[in-house]
Amino acid sequence: MFENAPDEVDNVIVTGKSGAGKQPRIDVLVEEYDLEQLSTGNIFRSYLGSFGEYGYDGDISQFWNEENERFVSDEEIAEGIGTDDEEVLFGLKAKYFVDRGKFVPDRITNELFKSYFGKKDYHGQVLDGYPRTVEQAEFLLDLIEEKKSKIDFVLWVRNTDEKIIERTTKRRICPKCGKVYHLKYDPPKNGKCEECGVEVIQRSDDTEEKIRSRLQEFKDKTRPMIEKLEEDIPVAEVPGHLEEFTPENVRKSVMEALTEL
Ligand code: AMP
Repeated sequence: MFENAPDEVDNVIVTGKSGAGKQPRIDVLVEEYDLEQLSTGNIFRSYLGSFGEYGYDGDISQFWNEENERFVSDEEIAEGIGTDDEEVLFGLKAKYFVDRGKFVPDRITNELFKSYFGKKDYHGQVLDGYPRTVEQAEFLLDLIEEKKSKIDFVLWVRNTDEKIIERTTKRRICPKCGKVYHLKYDPPKNGKCEECGVEVIQRSDDTEEKIRSRLQEFKDKTRPMIEKLEEDIPVAEVPGHLEEFTPENVRKSVMEALTEL
């Protein structure tokens, strides 16, 4: 039925505004091509979780030096919060940006991404939410060349700001496995994750103000990144909003877009 879609892929990128509806399309690619999902957003959130569990309730902006756009030294942060646990320190740094609806700086994100991509031997991944800036795209292209790996295509999930604000404020996620629900379109039964049985939560960055900030980041930084990738990698576009949102329709729209690559 979708004969012209690629048979096999090495790695793919799924991009789009935060809240555009990437997850259901990622699920299709994971299943169709036997891939794993590598989500920088989920990784950052797991570190935010470590920081949250540690329970520091002081003001974390005191550790950010606005003038030189860097954090103070790890020793200083450790002394300030009372632990030198690396996950907690990293969680604090990520939280500073995530909670403002801002992108985490490239040098932090690239290092983190490289170590997680390396754990998977640089193959078989759906890159979700990475790259998001031109600098990250350049870093990734150099890395795949060095590691003799490949990005087969970019899937760009498109959606309007209005739809995204409506979707995202009603979004809920499982704090354990990251599965995404929607109070209207895909409500969790009894408010619990069907996989883990734990109560779903609203992301701390899913308020309208932070969503608008993320949409602005997309316009300023991610759109130019997509244009840059397009010079080297084919880009397929799919609508993030479907009138009839069913698993069959999502799959059809993704696979049809891939036949046009
Ligand atoms: P997401 O779940 O993909 O919407 O990501 C949540 C937040 O994590 C973003 O708003 C950023 O603060 C941060 N983040 C995730 N991926 C990246 C990235 N590639 N570059 C910079 N920040 C990122």
